[in-house]
Parts: sequence; structure tokens; C-alpha cells
Amino acid sequence: MGGIVIIGAGECGTRAAFALRKAGISDAITLVGSEPYLPYERPPLSKPVDGAVQLKPICGAQALEASAIDYLQGVSASRLETESRTVTLTDGRVLTYEKLLLAAGARTRRLTCRGAEHALAFRTYADAAAIFSHAEAGKSVAIVGGGLIGMELAAVLRSKRVAVNIIEAAPTPLGRAVPPRFAARLHARHVDEGVQFYLGRGIAEITDDAVYLADSGLVLADLVVAAIGVQPDMALAEAAGLATGNGVLVDHFLRTSNPDIFAAGDCAAISLSCGGHIRFESWRNARSQAETAARNMAGGNDAFVALPWFWSDQYDLGLQVAGLPQPAHQSVVRCLADGELEFYLDGGRLVAAAGLGVGNAIAKDIKLAEMLIAAGVDVDAAALGDPDVNLKTLLKSARAA
Ligand code: FAD
Ligand code: NAP
Repeated sequence: MGGIVIIGAGECGTRAAFALRKAGISDAITLVGSEPYLPYERPPLSKPVDGAVQLKPICGAQALEASAIDYLQGVSASRLETESRTVTLTDGRVLTYEKLLLAAGARTRRLTCRGAEHALAFRTYADAAAIFSHAEAGKSVAIVGGGLIGMELAAVLRSKRVAVNIIEAAPTPLGRAVPPRFAARLHARHVDEGVQFYLGRGIAEITDDAVYLADSGLVLADLVVAAIGVQPDMALAEAAGLATGNGVLVDHFLRTSNPDIFAAGDCAAISLSCGGHIRFESWRNARSQAETAARNMAGGNDAFVALPWFWSDQYDLGLQVAGLPQPAHQSVVRCLADGELEFYLDGGRLVAAAGLGVGNAIAKDIKLAEMLIAAGVDVDAAALGDPDVNLKTLLKSARAA
């Protein structure tokens, strides 16, 4: 009888393997990963240090060995059979499992226009290496998609004196996850840095040296990168008959429709108390869901409750967003010497916070805001907006209350 099999050796799958050991699991753990490297972090791919792409391992081979995690590198799971509890690999091996974790992450959305094959994707180390090997000073790059990755890539390329054009279908960049106030500031900064935006524009065709826009006009480019979002990787789950929607559907405990199969990270859509499912696409979510899934696979019964949080670095600016800001929330702005915070209240209760500042200027305040949100109490809006009121003081009185 097999022990635990984890499909996907990204942030989520790898962290889950170690967390399972921490939770006391002594059975065999097999971690299956398609990519031909040690498990690595994705965020550094779009944040090169000194212009070089970084392959930052999540763990070394020794750590895997010391925890008796059998890492099958560069091989994919191609079939999951729930009745026989088996996973077939692309090299023909068949693994049996008692419990399985699906941590297959997400795949990039692909353009469908004529010549779409000319556009490079940006998800893996191999993608990053291909993009940066072509990006030299004096060249020009067209990035399709002005989301988090498109904008981060633009900032890096501008620092290398590459001409950057961003073609975005929506009327503004960063419209999906970034509060409008900070999306506008980052947009303005990119314009100041010389990025050329084509907003609200579709694409008709991509050729060797240009992108033809749908409503006439063209953008000359030596290289085209598509950064138009991702789709959850749920092919195995679908074929195995597990419940899927916008991801592999899981309950609060990260269990799929099969009680011995869990799913977490970018591929998992977690059940909401108010109905429906929500999927998060961020680094911290992958880590914290990995830990909850591992505890529950080890026999625990922990509901996943972490507050969503992500960051983005563009030029010298650091953005952080905690919680899910909504247009209906009351907004309170706090101006700082080298940044700005925005708090979001729902009926007097702090539910989300975001900030943009130079370097790590807003990091400490966002951490305190996260604690205030977790306290679940009403917070005085005037005090939140007043830079002379220390958030620590607010936290102390919130805790006392
Ligand atoms: P993934 O990282 O996608 O890992 C899944 C792994 O499973 C992949 O290696 C995949 O090849 C493998 N796999 C898939 N199918 C199979 C199979 N059948 N068999 C075996 N293996 C399989 N988030 C932030 O919060 N902040 C950031 O600044 C940030 N920057 C980012 C920059 C870039 C360039 C990218 C691409 C993402 C960034 N993210 C960031 C998002 C964050 O990296 C992801 O949310 C996180 O990696 C999700 O982890 P995961 O393990 O769920 O999925
Ligand atoms: P994204 O944030 O979803 O942004 C994609 C952008 O491309 C959206 O603005 C989208 O507009 C636009 N778009 C879609 N189709 C288009 C088309 N045909 N032509 C032009 N524009 C088009 O995704 P991403 O930037 O590719 O990021 C990929 C993943 O990394 C996501 O999971 C993201 O959440 C994750 N991530 C990255 C960071 C980071 O880089 N710091 C942080 C956290 C998470 P619509 O919204 O209108 O479709």
C-alpha cells in the first residue's frame, strides 16, 4: 500500500511535503514534479537581482533526503485513478497512494490570435531564461497583458534599457487585483519610466517583428511576451471525475469531492461560507494552504482561514495588499513620508488594507493592519487616516476591547 503522493512540486506541493513530516507522518511521501529542477520559488523570476534571472530553490536535495521525501524530478503525473488509488507517470511508473494532494498550480492562458506562437509565456524558470536572454538594451519588447506579471516584467526591462510596450485589453492596467488608487500610481510611474501603453486594445496578429492591433495600428517588437493570466491546472482531477469549477473544488478543509484527495494552491478553489468557491493565485496562499492540507491529511480537522495577501515590486516601489478590497468598502487613506496606505472598512470593521511605498516602507504597517483585521473589531476611521496615530496603539486598544 502506498503512502502519500503529491502531484506538483511548486511552492504548495513542496511545502506540503515538509509540513506532512512536521505533522508526524512517517509513511512514504512521493513528490512528483514536471520541471527538471529542484523545487523553486516563482516570484524571484520577475524580480531579477543585478539583471540576472534567479533560480531560488525552495529546498535543497539534502533537505528532501533528510525528510525522506522521494522527489521525482522532471516527470509528470498523466493519469489518476481513484478506484485503484493509483497515479500513472509519463515514464510509465505507477504509484499507489493512501492519500493524495493535487498541487498542480496553474498554466498560462494562451493568446488565440494569428501568430500567437510567436509570443513567449512567463511562468517557469525556462520561460524567464528565454525572455531575459533576448532582452538587451536597445531592443523592444511588447508585453500583452498589463497585470502583475506584465507590469513587473516591464519594470525590469526598463532597468535594462529595453523599449517596452504594454498592450492591455482593459481600459487600465492592474485592474484585477490592485486597488484603483495604487494601480493608477503604478501606471503613472511606468509612463514616467518610458513604458508605452496601448489600453483597451485587442490583438489581431503577431508576426516576427510586430504586433498588429485589432482596431488598426501596430507595435514593432523584437520580442512578444504574453502575460494574460493563468488557468488552474485541473486536467487530472477532471479526468478522474473529481468536482471542478474554476479550479479543483475543495471544502474548508481542502478536501476534494474524494475524501482521500486534497487540493491546494493555485489549482484549488475553496468553498465559501456564503456559497460558491474562490481561488487565490499567490505565493503566501500556496504556502498556507499547503500547511493546512498537510495537517488535515495527517488526520487533523483545520478549516483554512488565512487572510489573502500578496505583494509586487516594480522599480523601487513595493506594493502589498491584504484581504480583498471591494469598491463598496469605506476607504480611508493614510499618507506617509515615503508611501501611502489605504484601509477598507465594512460597517466600521477593518477588512482589508493595501499600501504602496518606496522599498519596504509600508511593510510594517500592513503587518499591523493584518493583525487589526484578524482582531475582527471596529476601528476608528479618523485614527486610521491619521499618520500620527501609531497602528500599534490601535491594535492594543482593539485587543483590550
Ligand atoms: P505552481 O507554482 O504553479 O507549481 C505547480 C507545479 O506543479 C509546477 O512546477 C508544475 O510544473 C507542476 N505540475 C503541474 N502538473 C503536474 C503533473 N501532472 N505532474 C507533475 N507536476 C505537475 N505571488 C505573489 O504573491 N507575489 C509575487 O510577487 C509573485 N510573483 C510571481 C512572479 C511570477 C513570474 C509568477 C509566475 C508567479 C508569481 N506569483 C507571485 C504567484 C505565485 O508564484 C503562485 O501563486 C505560486 O507559485 C503557486 O504555487 P503552486 O505550488 O500552487 O503552483
Ligand atoms: P493577471 O494579473 O490576471 O493579469 C493579466 C492581464 O492581462 C489582465 O489585466 C487581463 O485583463 C489582461 N488580458 C487578458 N487577456 C488579454 C488579451 N488577449 N490582450 C490583452 N490583455 C489581456 O495575470 P498575470 O499578470 O499574467 O499573472 C499571472 C499569475 O501570477 C497570476 O496568477 C497572478 O495572480 C500571479 N501573481 C503575480 C504576482 C506578481 O507578479 N507580483 C503577485 C501575485 C500573484 P482582464 O482582467 O480584463 O482579463
